[in-house]
Amino acid sequence: MPPFLYIRHNNYMKDYSNHISIIGAGIGGLALGNILKKNNIPCIIFEKSKKISEYGAGISISPNGLKVLEKLDLDKRFKQVSAQPGYAVFHSNNKIITETSTNVVTSSRKNLHSVLLENYLALDGEILFNHELVDLDLTNKTIYFSNKTNWNVNHIAACDGIRSICKKKLSISNIKPEYSGYSVWRTIMPSHQNKINFHLGSNFHIVSYPIDKNKISLIAAIKDKNSFNESWKEKGSLKDLFSTIPSSIIDMYPTIKDSNEIYKWGVYIRPKIKSLFNNNITFIGDSAHPIVPFLGQGGCLALEDAFIFGNLLKKYKNNFNQAQNKYQQVRIKRIKSISKQSLNQAKLNHLSNPLLIFIRNMLMKYTNVIFNRTKNIWSYDISKIIDV
Ligand SMILES: Cc1cc2nc3c(=O)[nH]c(=O)nc-3n(C[C@H](O)[C@H](O)[C@H](O)COP(=O)(O)OP(=O)(O)OC[C@H]3O[C@@H](n4cnc5c(N)ncnc54)[C@H](O)[C@@H]3O)c2cc1C
Repeated sequence: MPPFLYIRHNNYMKDYSNHISIIGAGIGGLALGNILKKNNIPCIIFEKSKKISEYGAGISISPNGLKVLEKLDLDKRFKQVSAQPGYAVFHSNNKIITETSTNVVTSSRKNLHSVLLENYLALDGEILFNHELVDLDLTNKTIYFSNKTNWNVNHIAACDGIRSICKKKLSISNIKPEYSGYSVWRTIMPSHQNKINFHLGSNFHIVSYPIDKNKISLIAAIKDKNSFNESWKEKGSLKDLFSTIPSSIIDMYPTIKDSNEIYKWGVYIRPKIKSLFNNNITFIGDSAHPIVPFLGQGGCLALEDAFIFGNLLKKYKNNFNQAQNKYQQVRIKRIKSISKQSLNQAKLNHLSNPLLIFIRNMLMKYTNVIFNRTKNIWSYDISKIIDV
């Protein structure tokens, strides 16, 4: 037995040459594994971490992402371990602008990962933790790991997130990520809050939502000239947060003061890749299209990508080139549009000009202009896109 954590299958199986290798067990990689197993397409997941970890992060999955979980028969299980807040309240300068109903499901990332991983394993899926991809040879379809193992595979699905090594190795993008001017604090704290709160302020906005009956996730995004590291593990300071956000808002979250796990994430902008595939590799989720998090769509897009590519492989009977071309054709417009809207959302949330704030608030209070944009994104129906 090699010196790494191996899950499933007692016989050590060295030949993956007819397998799709999924690099990364994040949202996109685990979803793709589930879809391929469901479609009886051989696959194996390689993940660099030792295990799935949480780092105090919540996630909200909107109906477009839930549709994928529904197709995998995982929606009920995910809802059982999550919260369904039902409505969202928007505040501006401590006043409520409006309330709206919502059908997003809010949870901890760990719950979403666990639901996807458990089902993948139940489908007899294989995953190798402690496997960090360090190199690849697209011509020979060979993948190399930092633990000195390597495998020949049938195809590579790059699901390795925003700092994709697959993308780097192909020199698809050598341009350095550019700091967006926004940083985000996030924490999970005890609370029985059962709704979503948005607080829009000049140069900051806060979103809080329940992740289960007893805890909420709070995300505070600020405009900050000083760039901060982009990492799930980087700690932030409560003192910094309190000096930036008005105390009247902080006071609405008394348990935040007891929170010793607060993290801070510098938001970076990366150039979009022109193509979602290259030769024997296909990009899924953040590795394909890293987007800023202000519409809460990165994870949902990763689920959509995985569903569509996994089912196109079935439809085209593993003719990778046909599947890749169709995947690109059906995804690229939506991805570009949501990337652009995510960046604009931060500007809209952080308005500081009083006249513009007034107009935004009136539009939110008396019209559906702003909410319809979100509803359009949420109403995307994956099954209609590829007819499965
Ligand atoms: C603060 C914040 C809040 C967000 N909120 C939301 C939200 O509410 N809703 C939403 O839909 N999206 C949200 N997002 C976006 C969402 O987190 C990402 O878009 C989503 O995680 C992308 O999924 P992925 O599978 O592409 O990548 P990831 O989930 O990042 O997974 C990548 C995986 O690849 C592994 N990996 C990386 N490199 C290697 C390697 N070399 N070898 C092997 N494995 C490797 C990693 O360990 C990881 O497990 C948010 C993002 C941020 C930063």
